[in-house]
Amino acid sequence: MEKRDQLYEGKAKKVFATDDPEVVLVSYKDDATAFNGQKKGTILGKGAINNRVTNHLMRLLEHHGVPTHLVRELSERETLVRRVSIVPLEVIVRNVAAGSLSKRLGLAEGTPMQKTVLEFCYKDDALGDPMVNEYHIAAMRWATEAELDTICRYSLKVNQVLGDYLKDLNIQLIDFKLEFGRTADGTVILADEISPDTCRFWDTVTREKLDKDRFRRDLGGVEDAYQEIMKRLMGE
Ligand code: UDP
Repeated sequence: MEKRDQLYEGKAKKVFATDDPEVVLVSYKDDATAFNGQKKGTILGKGAINNRVTNHLMRLLEHHGVPTHLVRELSERETLVRRVSIVPLEVIVRNVAAGSLSKRLGLAEGTPMQKTVLEFCYKDDALGDPMVNEYHIAAMRWATEAELDTICRYSLKVNQVLGDYLKDLNIQLIDFKLEFGRTADGTVILADEISPDTCRFWDTVTREKLDKDRFRRDLGGVEDAYQEIMKRLMGE
């Protein structure tokens, strides 16, 4: 498959066309941003780790019946994925209070949720990705009712599969963000990435943070945390 024109450059990834109109090439960068782009930096080796971790977890999810955009890993930081049009929502799944939920509801970080919480944010950088509910989503036609049902079902399934898998590696899945896309025929599949950039991972024993919060909060040991996640997942 041949790499063609760059279609898009985001904060953490570049996307290129290929000679197959149904397939695009994603290239993961070491650039890191937080707080809607206000904090910028580099996490050395992040692109390669996020590429490999995402693909590893997407393969696991495929195996458990969640359809994903993954086609084939090409190199350390490049992967072929199915071309989709992204549903303009960030789906956030929460098992334990942290980050913006802790702030919003005045909950100590680490407070377990008595039921899994799903939240939706409208993807719009200029608006700061505002939280929306199912009524906004229907009124704005961001997704049909049937699509939203599918998205919620897949999101809860992802939480169950990843939560069980990570538990055995002494990693607690605190929360994470998913994005979905529609293929040319309208099928909804999981897209984007699943990595320490988009999940909160805490060591089950030490409660140490092994994710992007180390960058967001200047906790140090950012590269080591990403490396540790890759090591636990893939043994290297
Ligand atoms: N998240 C993300 N991208 C975003 C916002 C959140 O990947 O634009 C992830 C984040 O890493 C965390 C979860 O979604 O795992 C919940 O994030 P939260 O709403 O607490 O926002 P934050 O505190 O990260 O601003």
